[in-house]
Amino acid sequence: MSKNKSAIMDVYARFEETMVKGDGMYLFDANGKKYLDFYAGIAVNSIGHCHPHLIKAIQDQVENLMHISNIYHIEGQEKLAQRLTKSSFADVVFFANSGVEAMEGMIKLARRYHFINGNPEKWRVITVKGAFHGRSLATMAAANNPKYIEGFGPIVDGFDNVAFGDIDKIRNAINDKTAAILIEPILGEGGINVAGNDYLKALRKIADEFGLLLLLDEIQTGAGRTGKMWAHQWADIKPDAIAAAKGLGGGFPIGAILATNKAAKGMTHGVHGTTFGGNPLAMAASNAVMDIIEGKGFFDEICKNSTILLQKLDGLVNQYPDIFELTRGRGLMLGIKCRLDNDINNIDMVKCLKDNGLLTVAAADNMVRILPPLIMKNQHIDEAIAIIAKTAKQWH
Ligand code: PLP
Repeated sequence: MSKNKSAIMDVYARFEETMVKGDGMYLFDANGKKYLDFYAGIAVNSIGHCHPHLIKAIQDQVENLMHISNIYHIEGQEKLAQRLTKSSFADVVFFANSGVEAMEGMIKLARRYHFINGNPEKWRVITVKGAFHGRSLATMAAANNPKYIEGFGPIVDGFDNVAFGDIDKIRNAINDKTAAILIEPILGEGGINVAGNDYLKALRKIADEFGLLLLLDEIQTGAGRTGKMWAHQWADIKPDAIAAAKGLGGGFPIGAILATNKAAKGMTHGVHGTTFGGNPLAMAASNAVMDIIEGKGFFDEICKNSTILLQKLDGLVNQYPDIFELTRGRGLMLGIKCRLDNDINNIDMVKCLKDNGLLTVAAADNMVRILPPLIMKNQHIDEAIAIIAKTAKQWH
């Protein structure tokens, strides 16, 4: 029996390049080729690569204490939790290690909330089509994307998946067993579909009307990505709980559930936990990221720069209508849709952009996702637009 050449489980269709160095907005591969990073490790490297403040915070922490477990109080947890609650509707935070772990915990929180309130029959969550909430058995079931759930056995029960953007569909799905409504403020993997302010407001209203929790997956949209700390703040609503991760650690793995005291009522001693979640190193890293994104004018810059970027992307759609169809998004969570009717495939586009020195990432609906580090400046916009224009021209 011959062995595979690689010892890595083959679940990713990776590009051939190996990235070996990062510096601000740029990445360098093993051959020394330089790339402008407009995907930030899928919305993770919020303050760019190798930010000196983040490096120093991690280095200092490593020299003191890396791991202790949640049996003891952990330095940095309270500080970060205070910052996150101050930045949001939330009263309390649970720290995890990844997006999916935060999502699982948030679904558990919703079920426990109704259980502790004497309604154990309320355990189902309404979700929307095109969502992505992670790769665990429950979160795959929540999103109900056939592409991901195939072959993984019986689908975890407890989710009612309805059309995105249609408030009546949500209303009609509510029954005596419904515990919560769960949605991303912008469907990221689903193709940068923005949940409009009115839609989010209506979801809040329906949740209140039926005594449901409104849960938001802010794993991709949160930590400043849209120009506010949390994307739902654009709609001026208060959810009951949100899941966060990605940009919160700036590259260091972290996840978090933010919740009101009311929603977290069932989360008592022993009902939930994690070995690594909230460890001192993750706290040091995330507090360092917060130092930067809480800086004066940081969100204003994102809003200003993202408006320019979107205008210029729209300009490309006008200039190359046979290549690009439209743009969508908010803040620095943007997408440019390729013309499928003209045989322009987003995966091919992402590859060509990469070959021309610009890193992006594909999403559903033939979208090329644009998720630059939040520290992006004007010069990077011009550089990116020039590369996209060059790539579009090559296609002719
Ligand atoms: N939810 C959303 C909206 C995401 O974008 C992702 C990751 O892409 C996840 C959940 C899962 O997060 P993780 O990959 O950290 O488990």
